Amino acid sequence: MSEIEQLRHDLVIANRILAHEGVVDGFGHVSARHPENPARFLLSRSRSPELVTIDDIREFDLSGEMIDPDGSQSYLERFIHAAIYELHPEVNGCVHSHSEALLPFGITSVPLKPVFHNASRIGREVPVWDIATKFGDTDLLVVNMDHGRDLAKSLADNRLVLMRGHGLTVATEALHTVVTTAIYAVVNARVQTTAMQMGDVKFLSEGEIDAAISKAKKTTVGHKRIWEYLSRRAGCEDLLDS
Ligand code: MN
Repeated sequence: MSEIEQLRHDLVIANRILAHEGVVDGFGHVSARHPENPARFLLSRSRSPELVTIDDIREFDLSGEMIDPDGSQSYLERFIHAAIYELHPEVNGCVHSHSEALLPFGITSVPLKPVFHNASRIGREVPVWDIATKFGDTDLLVVNMDHGRDLAKSLADNRLVLMRGHGLTVATEALHTVVTTAIYAVVNARVQTTAMQMGDVKFLSEGEIDAAISKAKKTTVGHKRIWEYLSRRAGCEDLLDS
């Protein structure tokens, strides 16, 4: 299988994993930067992630336009992905979701911060982007490049940005890591919320977060193990390496 074919397969798996794990529902999406042409990215046509197949994957440019339009509908919020890839050359995978457990951290002054080892991948800091700051009253959706670029700018060099009253966007160096980061962000939000109800919370130190992220970048064993586990849970046996 060529690199691009493999990536299309992995993107379908990523869609199904995120749906199965409850990170996305009928809404939300995941994309990957094109491995040979960094000015393009792969994203499904407008379809619920759980139902995405290889035939649904389309290519887009960094202004959010579909390459070779075929009349199929695109996600309204594809500009999130376009602007993230445009402004962040090191990013190769992006997830946008509305995960319920994370929403409180976008509408209060309580910062989302890693509270356990596997959640260190969300990074030291999780900024909150408020569309109203620059654009006033909108329907809260990111529907053009101006919105997208403003969001991408507030991500800065972090791995996750909360979107006030809407959801979140995760952007990392690879498709596999963006999927696990999106999953563990939800778990961290749940654990942090529970812990805060119990009393004072001890967060990971910045040094612990940096050490965990740098170790994760050096090894592929853990990535393969979690990907295989998540793929099988999501019923993707037919799409795994054969
Ligand atoms: Mn959205």
